[in-house]
Amino acid sequence: MRDDDEKAQPKSPTFCFATKRRGAFPPRPRPIVFLPPERNYAARGLGLLGGDPASAADIEDCGAVTGRVHSIDTFTAVDGHGIRCIVFLQGCEKRCAFCCNVDSTHAALAKTPNPGRTMSVNDIVEILKRNRKYYASSEGGGLTLSGGECLLQPAFVEAVAIKTHEIGLTVAIDTAASGDAETWNRVLPHVDVVLLCVKSSSLEKYKAITGTTEREYETMRAFLKELNRRRVKTWLRFVLMSDPDSRFVDFRTNDENELRGLAELAKTHECVEGIELLPYHRFGEFKFSELGLEYKLEGMRTPDAEEIHAAQTFLQSQGVTVIC
Ligand code: SF4
Repeated sequence: MRDDDEKAQPKSPTFCFATKRRGAFPPRPRPIVFLPPERNYAARGLGLLGGDPASAADIEDCGAVTGRVHSIDTFTAVDGHGIRCIVFLQGCEKRCAFCCNVDSTHAALAKTPNPGRTMSVNDIVEILKRNRKYYASSEGGGLTLSGGECLLQPAFVEAVAIKTHEIGLTVAIDTAASGDAETWNRVLPHVDVVLLCVKSSSLEKYKAITGTTEREYETMRAFLKELNRRRVKTWLRFVLMSDPDSRFVDFRTNDENELRGLAELAKTHECVEGIELLPYHRFGEFKFSELGLEYKLEGMRTPDAEEIHAAQTFLQSQGVTVIC
């Protein structure tokens, strides 16, 4: 690397290689198909790399748009197709009981009043360019914007997505749904895949798990409807909690009613390519304790292989694809 290139690099953000996983335990590597970099546009064969250049023209200087970033994982094989860079954005209004990155949420603000760091779109693109050949050599590789809740920063997500498409990489967002039609109009034309964590298919359990209200549940459902209307490729994500202890009755998600409701959500929205089950894990528990926040799932055990298999089999019996 030349000296002037070195100077041009953005100051390194907090790279988080032991990154947040919304559920996967252990992380399940997907098979990676390596392709010559020049065939990166094989992503188009997957129906990816859409984007909307006309809309991009409305933004004078995408590169200067800034966002608040929690951390970055520059090399992962989860959270989308191929090899990906994941940018975790700061801020989330939900208070999920199993959150493994609670330090990226609003709940942590009292303890860490100025969390994350401000980065420009150009900063992110420079990081992507450094590793571009790796992302581009995998089938559909690219960038995933996660959080926190990435939809709380729609202008940043929109601009990053436009610039990422310009260098030939795919864009996924990992979200639990937030915002309204204006937010979705900005972001969705520039996103190839949406990973939507639905938390629960039933209102009461959704409220218990996320610590929110019916409004957020309706937002999740409206967002899914909008994804369907726009035909955006969607993977539903679902954290599987199976501990039979009566303390966790409000959180358990492996009963038939819950899974049947989840399968219905998938089957009634053609945009859904499949459901990804994320077995509950306790990786984030220590952060609750560090921040002095209550961890409602203390003592909950992780699902065993039999329970995971049973949930997968049940979903498949309902006619939906389970993404492994
Ligand atoms: S939506 Fe995600 S980041 Fe927000 S509280 Fe829930 S698990 Fe944590």
